[in-house]
Amino acid sequence: MASDWSMPRRGEACAACGRAFEGGQPVSVYLYEAAESYARRDFCETCQPPAEPAWLGAWKTRRPVEGRKAPALDRETLLKIFEQLDAAAAAETVQFRFVLALLLWRKRVLKLEGTSSDGPTEVWDFSGPADRKYQITRPDLDETQLEQLSDQLEALLAGKSDAALPAELAAPGEDPS
Ligand SMILES: [Zn+2]
Repeated sequence: MASDWSMPRRGEACAACGRAFEGGQPVSVYLYEAAESYARRDFCETCQPPAEPAWLGAWKTRRPVEGRKAPALDRETLLKIFEQLDAAAAAETVQFRFVLALLLWRKRVLKLEGTSSDGPTEVWDFSGPADRKYQITRPDLDETQLEQLSDQLEALLAGKSDAALPAELAAPGEDPS
């Protein structure tokens, strides 16, 4: 689902009021589905994201201080985003949920318990903290694509990079523009 707004190259200013961020400033980060993968927008404390497009996940953080390494996104925040999504599971978030689950698995927050098939659909069973169970539908992407999406999502969440994915990762049938 391509979005018709374009992302600023890096979230150096509030996506709503355009005011430049300062180091250490608290911000709300919203994650969106983009044509190839995911996009993030940062908002200052006084601004709200627009009602459209719908966002996939949101969290609060602080802008990195100049010259200091951006803090890595902590596991609790990742898990919170994942659980928000779990509560509001919709068809269009299948891919995002799965990629996020992969990322949490790689970070050893989730444990893979097994996989099963529900007709043509492959379902991966994960368990999390407090023995919570999650059944995550595997999207129709190959392993390389999933790995790349997971890498890209991790970088994006941590604010390290907004590097676009190779064009071949664009979903088939989707307008790449
Ligand atoms: Zn603002």
